[in-house]
Amino acid sequence: MVKSPMVIVGAGLGGIRLAENLRNGGYEGELMLLGAEQHPPYDRPPLSKTVLTGDDERVDLKPADYFTEADIDLQMGARVVAVDPSAHVVSVERDGVTEKLEYGTLVLATGLVARQFPGTDGVSGVHVIRTIEDSLALRADVAAAKNAVVIGAGFIGCEVSASLHKLGVNVTLVEPTPAPLSGPLGAEIGAMVTRLHEEAGVDLRVDVGVDEILTDGGRAVGVALSDGSRVDADVIVVGIGGYPDVDYLQGSGIEIADRSDGGGVACNAVGRTSDPDVYALGDCANWRDVDGHPHRVEHWTHTVDHAALVAAHLLGHEIPHQPVPYFWSDQYGLKFQMLGSPRSDDEVHVVDDDGRKFLAYYSREGLLTGVVGAGRVGKLMKARQFLVTPTPVSTLLDA
Ligand SMILES: Cc1cc2nc3c(=O)[nH]c(=O)nc-3n(C[C@H](O)[C@H](O)[C@H](O)COP(=O)(O)OP(=O)(O)OC[C@H]3O[C@@H](n4cnc5c(N)ncnc54)[C@H](O)[C@@H]3O)c2cc1C
Repeated sequence: MVKSPMVIVGAGLGGIRLAENLRNGGYEGELMLLGAEQHPPYDRPPLSKTVLTGDDERVDLKPADYFTEADIDLQMGARVVAVDPSAHVVSVERDGVTEKLEYGTLVLATGLVARQFPGTDGVSGVHVIRTIEDSLALRADVAAAKNAVVIGAGFIGCEVSASLHKLGVNVTLVEPTPAPLSGPLGAEIGAMVTRLHEEAGVDLRVDVGVDEILTDGGRAVGVALSDGSRVDADVIVVGIGGYPDVDYLQGSGIEIADRSDGGGVACNAVGRTSDPDVYALGDCANWRDVDGHPHRVEHWTHTVDHAALVAAHLLGHEIPHQPVPYFWSDQYGLKFQMLGSPRSDDEVHVVDDDGRKFLAYYSREGLLTGVVGAGRVGKLMKARQFLVTPTPVSTLLDA
């Protein structure tokens, strides 16, 4: 059960949703939400899409007066630098001053830190994209840019490429695997994503890495690739993933999952960490799934679902049934969607492909594991029901 004062570390999507669920679920005790950023809590998916293209500025997760009305003590600019579970205390740094705050129950929702390209500290023209400041700084920098290199063709690298292309910038997208998104989705879907980028005119370089970011007078001017070629650019975007923001837990005794399992704060199936009064959720949390396997997921819907689950557990309510995993991405005017937990080594069954839009089922040992589509929203959502319980993929293929 939740113990007052309830302290949530991280005022991003997971922290906000948890606070909201606790209040809506009847928790009336003290509720503190500590966020390291200065900007009022905001949503991240638009950062690589509509915020970057300048089509949207409204990304706040809640209206300004929500927190007062819901009696949530939101403190921005407050970074937790240490946790002492035996004393039930967190150390919070604000404007260079550190103070201690007591908690009854503590929830960690601190997200990720974007991985930087090695050796680029202080080099201008090199960007990552995790915060709203990152997105606005990139937008400002590309306003005067002709050529950009995007390093890494994962979901964020692909989205940034599409957004920069929309802004009229010549984009070179560099990816060490044979195709964009082939890591999570396999070669067949990777080939379809390749098609989209190439049709748009993005210069896609695959099977090649970036050896070095080239600079002139402290400003990036291009990249040297591992095949010996060089690509000139005014702006470089580094989209090589992130790692859980959990350094502040050093010395706390709270268990951190092994890197080979995805890293992050190790939790059980209701988000409880190795300390009974400390929970974790969202991108920074590594959950045991129903089969007991550890996994860490960096998806919006996953964070929302787990915030609901942790709140229900803390309030002693019935634990909601975990919905089918869902992820989306927007690229070149198409909505990419993924349902279930497909793996790149699953069998892929492409059932619809018009040269741009497509739909594919994934199966393992004959059972449906996931559905991936682009521009096929209705058809994809219809397949959702078949992922709730184990279903032979033949049921869908023969329909
Ligand atoms: C550019 C971008 C595009 C994305 N697009 C999609 C998409 O299309 N679809 C999708 O499903 N998902 C997408 N995601 C992922 C989605 O946004 C995340 O899964 C979600 O934001 C995770 O929420 P969270 O609360 O765990 O972490 P976050 O939203 O990162 O919030 C964590 C907060 O904790 C704060 N914090 C960290 N350390 C401390 C500390 N020590 N003390 C206090 N505060 C701290 C951070 O400053 C941050 O504000 C995208 C992410 C990014 C960055």
